[in-house]
Amino acid sequence: MSARLKIDSLHFAETAGRMSGECSLQELSRLHDLLTSREGTLHWSLEGGRDAGRPVLRLGVQGRLKLVCQRCLAPCVHPLTVEAILPIARNEEELALWESEDPLLDGLVAEPHLDVRDLIEDEVLLSLPAIPRHPIGECGQADD
Ligand SMILES: [Zn+2]
Repeated sequence: MSARLKIDSLHFAETAGRMSGECSLQELSRLHDLLTSREGTLHWSLEGGRDAGRPVLRLGVQGRLKLVCQRCLAPCVHPLTVEAILPIARNEEELALWESEDPLLDGLVAEPHLDVRDLIEDEVLLSLPAIPRHPIGECGQADD
């Protein structure tokens, strides 16, 4: 994904668009402060469709991130799995109505030039643990 990939989000949802690809961690600059290594690639897929009567984008992202364990400060591998369902509202008013019906809704306002890489970056950041840690027993401090 060297060139910026953009879609018309509402059109993509309503026409059941499909695309997938790979994205290097180098390209996701907003993640860089959290990573101990920028090497690696994320696999992503995007599908348009409907959910609960609303046009949606379904975004899947898989990969492995090296984060910093907040207990021992050593790198810890985080297996990343994002599966987001993102309703696409026509405008702010429609999104506000949907959010009043469903406070957990993770919706977006229709965007004729939605940057797919920005969307992936947003959803990956949202999915990360607030405090990354090794699993119990695998932490560097577990031996102390
Ligand atoms: Zn640790």
